[in-house]
Amino acid sequence: MIRRSAAVAVRFLVLSVILQMVSENTYADAAPASMQVRNIRYYSGPDQTRVVLDLNRPCNYQVSERKDPDRIVIDIPSGRFSPGVKEVTVGDGVLARIRVNRLKKGAQVVLDLPRVPEYKYYTLGPNAVHPDRIVIDLKKSITKVERMEREARAEKVANSGDMIVIIDPGHGGSKPGTSSRNGLLEKTVALDISRKIKAAVDSYAGFRAVLTRSGDYDVSLADRIKIARSHGGCCFVSIHLNGAPSSRPRGSEIYYLSVEGARDENSVALEERENMILEMGEEGEVLNDDIEWILGDWGRKEAMSQSFALSQSIAGRLKGLRSVPFRGIKQGNFVILRNLQKPSVLVEVAFLTNRNDVSLMRKDKIKEEYAEAIAAGIVEYLLANPPEGSGISPAKMLTHTVSRGETLGLIAQRYGVTVSEICDLNGIQRSSTIRPGQKLRVIRKTVRSTGS
Ligand SMILES: [Zn+2]
Repeated sequence: MIRRSAAVAVRFLVLSVILQMVSENTYADAAPASMQVRNIRYYSGPDQTRVVLDLNRPCNYQVSERKDPDRIVIDIPSGRFSPGVKEVTVGDGVLARIRVNRLKKGAQVVLDLPRVPEYKYYTLGPNAVHPDRIVIDLKKSITKVERMEREARAEKVANSGDMIVIIDPGHGGSKPGTSSRNGLLEKTVALDISRKIKAAVDSYAGFRAVLTRSGDYDVSLADRIKIARSHGGCCFVSIHLNGAPSSRPRGSEIYYLSVEGARDENSVALEERENMILEMGEEGEVLNDDIEWILGDWGRKEAMSQSFALSQSIAGRLKGLRSVPFRGIKQGNFVILRNLQKPSVLVEVAFLTNRNDVSLMRKDKIKEEYAEAIAAGIVEYLLANPPEGSGISPAKMLTHTVSRGETLGLIAQRYGVTVSEICDLNGIQRSSTIRPGQKLRVIRKTVRSTGS
């Protein structure tokens, strides 16, 4: 419905383009020719649409609102557009279209809107990945009913009786993270692997994964934590891809929270990079809301030791993969890990600055293998350390190697589980043939207490 009304708005606005060109083409300032708008990007998320103008250097600009039809106009009196910059149709219900007006003495960006929403704009200086920028955030208006529905959905997940695993694809939207030489972005690979981890976690009976983002859009740090809390997550696994100044380092690493103690130089550099990008979540975002969640000393120690156990469990699985070498468990003082009271780890899956790793990250089968290993590590950890009140008594996940003549029925009998449980756990059918030497995951004695 929203999309359709946006489309109508676009059609209507097409008719008014000429009028606008006349009314908005009024700048008389002399423009130094060197100031350029090099690119315009936008990202639609569930809560907002972000528009980013990439600039070659900081500039003066004005933002104004216009009516009939509704639009926001960004004027850069001394600016020009690079040749490739052109109009973009969005139509996401918040923003209909981004228009580019090449004025005689300036650059003008017009955001055509179904209606002017709550919005904010600001500039950002250059960093390792981005040049100078003007950012406009258009807030999606969510009705009370929609908000309540959203909360009810989260609550339903939280009360489902399943163990909820929060999978957090790093970065997203205007924050791509690190990238490979030929443009493979961390945010894209992280989301892809996170989706695969979710599928793998969901395939275990009694487990369910929730993603903190399901597309290419910005999610603030506070929102990532809110999603984890509202869905009743019992652990938090953030997925990232690594980068290094040299192309040599490769492999995966797991970080868990450290508040003190020696850390190697790499982890300090990484921490700075990841934190920079995470903290930038929303410009000037204050985490006051989260302060109540920051742990007291006791709680922090408890969460730290649990986070270490979780990282060990995932590491155990990653070590078994032949494709990507495992570099070890490290300590990091990441903001995202520090703000949660649940066991949380950050997995750097591979290096996008290494050619071998990049070619692996382009293969679906490898990413699946990787995701399944991470999921198995998480499930194993939660079974061995079930959260209080989950009604699950500690159990151990084992790997059973099939011997000659064994059937699924015999294996099930041996571990006191059902054939369907083995099938669920391994993603196989009851009718599947098993062969000697095949490895099967088995959970021994998962006891869900009958009490409340
Ligand atoms: Zn990252």
